[in-house]
Amino acid sequence: MTAEFILTLTLRAPLALHQTRAGVQYVETLDYVPGTALRGALAKAYLAEQGSPDSTFRALFLSDQVQYGDLWPAIEGKPTTLIPATAQVCKRYKFAHGDSLRDTLFDALSSQPAAVNCKCGEALDRASGYLCSLNPVESLSPRSRLRVSTAIERSTGTAARELLFTQHTLIGRGKVKGREDDKRDDSENTVPLLFQGTLRLTNPALYHELAGLLKPTSVLFLGAGRSRGLGEVEVKTFLEAPADQSLPDRWKKFNEAAQRTGGDPDTRYFSLTLLSHLALRDELLRPVLSDITPQHFGLPETVTWARYTNSEQPVLFLSTVTVPGWNAALGLPKPDTVVLARGSVLLAQCRTDQEQAVVAQLARIEVQGVGERRNEGFGRVAICYPIHYERWR
Ligand SMILES: [Zn+2]
Repeated sequence: MTAEFILTLTLRAPLALHQTRAGVQYVETLDYVPGTALRGALAKAYLAEQGSPDSTFRALFLSDQVQYGDLWPAIEGKPTTLIPATAQVCKRYKFAHGDSLRDTLFDALSSQPAAVNCKCGEALDRASGYLCSLNPVESLSPRSRLRVSTAIERSTGTAARELLFTQHTLIGRGKVKGREDDKRDDSENTVPLLFQGTLRLTNPALYHELAGLLKPTSVLFLGAGRSRGLGEVEVKTFLEAPADQSLPDRWKKFNEAAQRTGGDPDTRYFSLTLLSHLALRDELLRPVLSDITPQHFGLPETVTWARYTNSEQPVLFLSTVTVPGWNAALGLPKPDTVVLARGSVLLAQCRTDQEQAVVAQLARIEVQGVGERRNEGFGRVAICYPIHYERWR
């Protein structure tokens, strides 16, 4: 039995979050808090209170009993959608022409390839980032600020000119965009940003330990630059998540859209959209990337990837990303590794008589996740993610 809790944080200082290890002079920040960073921050907070790692520490941070999800930018009261690799928006005006946002996944099943432009005549181009509303489309982009810092030369303790580096930091404000006549376009006009995600507990007894670390207004330090005053965040809320019963409804709407676009009536279709990075390895411990199969998700042999109508190509929108390795058993860093990136989309199909068994396994996938490093947020998957059918036309 897995219990799910929603954690919401606010920023008290700028935040610098890195995908790869430090060591370069120009550093971008991620626009979300990786589960890895959240887990690290809580482990430090625990040790600051308790002194040394005990059995509770190992259960919380070095076991598979707690999954620390990525925290996404969010604004109060609106669920955030991660824009998947299948989505496109106006090439020129981006989200100022947000109502042109279109998901292309179902084009794969259509015999007539879509040739859709924005209403302004411009072509559509790959979209990325987040939405805080699907209908009407409203994009949410965290604001960042460039900081120039001086690194201290360790041997002499003096500031060394050649160690100047620039760093992007998130500042706890976001910009919402969606309509051409949007008055919020003004750069001063930003909204307060929250960071929100879920923690999953396979051992519900650990809730009280976590709730102790995540009391409202408690302070954590996330990411890089704590000595330079960066990374201070405050817990806003840590609450039990309402049970999500929406899979049958999403499945139904997804398949209605698949039928409208030319899908085979005797086949059921479903998408697997990666909400976080997915780390899978084969028997020889090599990363599983474009050779991924439905069976890597624990699905029966009869489930296959859907194929484009006019070719034998599987309908896979995959991208990869390099992440720092992590040896969970030893709690030590390992060499960098390549994983499938969040936002990737896979389209699968099964026979109608398989439907029940497949949906049951998909429900498990949504709750339990897939692959390695789930305790640091990897392997979160959404089935029939609404943007695919809500924004297809
Ligand atoms: Zn346009």
